[in-house]
Amino acid sequence: MQKKQELYAGKAKTVYETDDPNIYLLEFRNDTSAFDGEKVRQLTDKGKVNNLFNAHIMQALEVAGIATHFIKLIDDKTSAVKCLDMIPVECVLRNYAAGGLSKRLGIEEGQVLSPPIFEFFLKDDALHDPMICDSHIMTFGWASEDEVRQMKELTCKVNDVLQPLFAEGGLQLVDFKLEFGRCDGNIVLGDEFTPDGCRIWDAKTQEKFDKDRFRRDLGDVVEHYRLAAERLGLVI
Ligand code: UDP
Repeated sequence: MQKKQELYAGKAKTVYETDDPNIYLLEFRNDTSAFDGEKVRQLTDKGKVNNLFNAHIMQALEVAGIATHFIKLIDDKTSAVKCLDMIPVECVLRNYAAGGLSKRLGIEEGQVLSPPIFEFFLKDDALHDPMICDSHIMTFGWASEDEVRQMKELTCKVNDVLQPLFAEGGLQLVDFKLEFGRCDGNIVLGDEFTPDGCRIWDAKTQEKFDKDRFRRDLGDVVEHYRLAAERLGLVI
C-alpha cells in the first residue's frame, strides 16, 4: 500500500490517501490540544502510544462483533483504515460524572451514572461542538433516524465490551467519545479510541490516566497513557 497525498490534518491526526481509494492511512501525531485548540503541545511518543492503544481497542471491538474502520498497523505512528463517509456528530457515553456533564449540571465528579448517560454533540469547532439531540440530527439531515438508533446502540455495545476490559486492568472507564461513518451501507466505528478521547481512572485511587492530565497540568501525560495501555495488557 502506497502513501499518497495528505487529505486532512486534524488536531492530533493526519489522514493520507493511498493507491487504494477505499483505504486511508491515519497518522497519530505527538500534537496534543485542549480547550478548542487554545492549549497545544507536542508530547514525545504520544503518537506512537495512541496508535498502539487505538489498534488494541479497535481489535478488541472487532472480536466482539463491532465493525470498525481499523485494518492494520503500518508502523509505530500509522494505521491503515477503511475510508468512511463520516457522520458529523460525536457520541459521548458516561458511566461516571466528569468534565462537561459535571460543569453543566452541577453533578459531583465521580458520581455513578446508572443507567449510563448518552449524549450527541455536533462536530463543529467554530460552534464549540454544541450538544444536540436526535431531533436536530434528523431535521438537519446529518443522519437518518435509523442511523441515529444504530449509533446509540453501537455506543452502548462498545461500553459493554470495554467496561469489563478496563475493569480487568483495575481501571474505570469514566466516559468516552465515538465517531461513526458509513461504509457499504453499514454504520462503522471510525476515528480513534485513545486516552485523548476518553476518561480513565484507577478504580481504587481515581488517579487519572487520560487527557485530563494535560488539560489540568497534572504532568506525565504520555507516561500515564502508556501505563493505562500496560494495564490493558499492551507492552509499548
Ligand atoms: N471528548 C472528545 N472530544 C471532544 C469532546 C469530548 O474526545 O471534542 C471526550 C472527552 O475526552 C471525554 C468525553 O468525550 O472523555 C466527554 O467530554 P466532556 O463532554 O466532559 O467534555 P470535556 O470536559 O472533555 O471538554
